[in-house]
Amino acid sequence: MILPRHLQADDPRFLALVHPLSDLERIATGFTWTEGPVWFGDHQCLLFSEIPSQRVLCWREGEGVSVFRSPSQFTNGNTRDRAGRLVYCRHGPRDVVRTEYDGSLTVLADSFEGRRLNSPNDVVVTSDGAVWFTDPTYGIISNFEGCRAEPEQSSRNVYRLGPDGRLTAVITDFTQPNGLVFSPDETRLYVAESGQSHDSSVPAVIRLFDLAGGQVMDAGIFATLDQGFPDGMRVDEAGNLWTSAFDGVHCFAPDGTRLGKILVPERVANLAFGGPTGHTLFITATSSVYRVFVDTRGAEPWTHGS
Ligand code: MG
Repeated sequence: MILPRHLQADDPRFLALVHPLSDLERIATGFTWTEGPVWFGDHQCLLFSEIPSQRVLCWREGEGVSVFRSPSQFTNGNTRDRAGRLVYCRHGPRDVVRTEYDGSLTVLADSFEGRRLNSPNDVVVTSDGAVWFTDPTYGIISNFEGCRAEPEQSSRNVYRLGPDGRLTAVITDFTQPNGLVFSPDETRLYVAESGQSHDSSVPAVIRLFDLAGGQVMDAGIFATLDQGFPDGMRVDEAGNLWTSAFDGVHCFAPDGTRLGKILVPERVANLAFGGPTGHTLFITATSSVYRVFVDTRGAEPWTHGS
């Protein structure tokens, strides 16, 4: 089969997930560093972060891009909880916050053991209402994506904020944890290691953690990237993992086999499923946002569309 130039199939299973007639479409451009895409089906729009310009932007079919929030305090990762509320990470105040129905802001976490967090990067909310997020130092390493500061934490952790309000450092041995995502049944947690950004000796891996027993158990390396290091990731309803990479989006089967790639002409930072029927993959890639039709949908039920 002749595939379009933006598709690379490493395994026949990939051809069931993408359509050979699908196009890679650049739907917005002119930005510095795009991140944190999240789909709002109830508004038929995509929110995404433009971190250095301190803006959260809104893209809508036929209307293009408008400013959703500015200044955004260097907002990075965005998600929704099961009640539909926007939950997001801010490098400026170094916190994880939630927008309530009335527009007010609730700070969910800004410190651990009495010391400020580094700069929360990406966040996901599980079905029990727990908020899981990563806390690397990208927002305090320089003034590009935040405000330069000395870390107060001795490590760069993955945290879980339980429904009871208790904040726990559940994984503490990352160089720089970044994107994180759960399997559809929430028994597996995938976390991107992006420490190669400042230390070339750090392997570009996605680590797997087993949650079946109620504990976070290290299950080893799920996958190693061959082009750059991973940042944002999403899982589809069949459990395949879609990760950002320097040459595009890589898709891995639940057993770690790479199924294929969507090649993007810019470095990819993050991605999100959405669109009117849930079959669109939105890709934030450096100066632009792209979309591509995929023949699957995200694991998050609120991205499925109608
Ligand atoms: Mg990130």
